Amino acid sequence: MVEEGARCLSRNHLRLDGTHAIRVVAGEHGHRAEPVTSVGDAWVRSTVGDGAGLAVLHRLRNRMAVEEGFRVTGFAWVALDDESERAMGVDQTHESWVVGGTMVVKWLTEPLVGPHPAAERLRRLSEAGFADSPELVGLVEWREPGSGHWVPVAVVQTYLPGTRDGWTWALDEARRALGLVSGPASAGFGADLGDVVGRMHLALADDPPDRMSPDLARRYADEALATLELAVRMVERYDPDSFVLLSEHRAEIEVVLAGLAGTAGTPVLPVHGDLHVGQVLRDGDGRYAVVDFDGNPTLPPDLRAAPAPAARDVAEMLASVENVEHVVRRYGPDLTEDAGLAWTTGEQSAFRQGYRRALGSREDLYDEALVRAYDWEQVCREIVYAGEREFLEWFYVPAAQLRRRLVPG
Ligand code: ADP
Ligand code: MG
Repeated sequence: MVEEGARCLSRNHLRLDGTHAIRVVAGEHGHRAEPVTSVGDAWVRSTVGDGAGLAVLHRLRNRMAVEEGFRVTGFAWVALDDESERAMGVDQTHESWVVGGTMVVKWLTEPLVGPHPAAERLRRLSEAGFADSPELVGLVEWREPGSGHWVPVAVVQTYLPGTRDGWTWALDEARRALGLVSGPASAGFGADLGDVVGRMHLALADDPPDRMSPDLARRYADEALATLELAVRMVERYDPDSFVLLSEHRAEIEVVLAGLAGTAGTPVLPVHGDLHVGQVLRDGDGRYAVVDFDGNPTLPPDLRAAPAPAARDVAEMLASVENVEHVVRRYGPDLTEDAGLAWTTGEQSAFRQGYRRALGSREDLYDEALVRAYDWEQVCREIVYAGEREFLEWFYVPAAQLRRRLVPG
């Protein structure tokens, strides 16, 4: 697609090299960034293979002056294997390219609204030497006019070849453990996953940890209650059985969510914020890597970047382990709910143990009593997520979560 001519690059762009740039344009829903490549006398949206990814990598290393409103930071360097660029080739929200065979360039082209959580989280993990995440190679950020927030437009990390995300490896583990497929017996992953998340929290948290302010506690409660309200409207539209169930129990769920307003003073940290098995990669040797610190897309930007109790990440991860079971049962109808439930409970309790063990003497970072409220919020968020995107083939998952919590076994 041919866009405006080259002269339009005079403002709001970061030149990468003679023929590539990152341009920020006003879109329908705020600003949006895009890599562009010069073709003739026009600038067109870059496509994988045209060199824009390689240009970002070189830009992290050279000392060219940086245009006003942009910031370029190199953290580490990894040698390139070659000069290739290829699409990541997975279903994702953003667009990531594997560049030079050793690095991933993620273009954050979405509406750019600050504050954005990724840069701070990635810097903290990098400074703490957290090894269970791809290494941060560099960041290109753009300063949002008005608010002055720095928002990432390109994130460069090391590429981890031979990894799969948890919607593949955890499903595979569950199917093996439940005898649905053959293969070596599954030893379970909960304890290892809990260990990774616990160490990630230690790397992200201040010592001593920050504390929840009364204002932030109130905002979290209001946001959770608003999400419940929206979830009720979504099930009313899309799933009559869930609507009956959720309406019947709405008052008691409201009490649990409203309790978040009383969490002032509890330890908080810059949590992952959108933690589920799909954000954890695993390689053939069983090593894990946590990715995607862009926060929960369904939260308003300031809450997406705000610190939160560790229990929020824990609740989300535990709920996603349960969702693995719901998916497995959906496609393996002979499996009984009891067998599925036993698998989920076993992995969840191993996760909790691994997590606590990793926190060790800093277990005060984690208030288990908050898991229940964040779990309910997550169930509601899952409904809203599926409903708003009309992702109706996923609706059975939050519907199964509701039944698990509200229908006595
Ligand atoms: P999105 O924000 O679009 O969800 P993610 O950062 O979660 O993007 O990445 C999407 C997918 O790309 C991951 O689930 C994983 O399959 C793959 N991926 C991301 N980063 C890496 C990496 N450093 N090495 C290998 N694969 C990666
Ligand atoms: Mg992701």
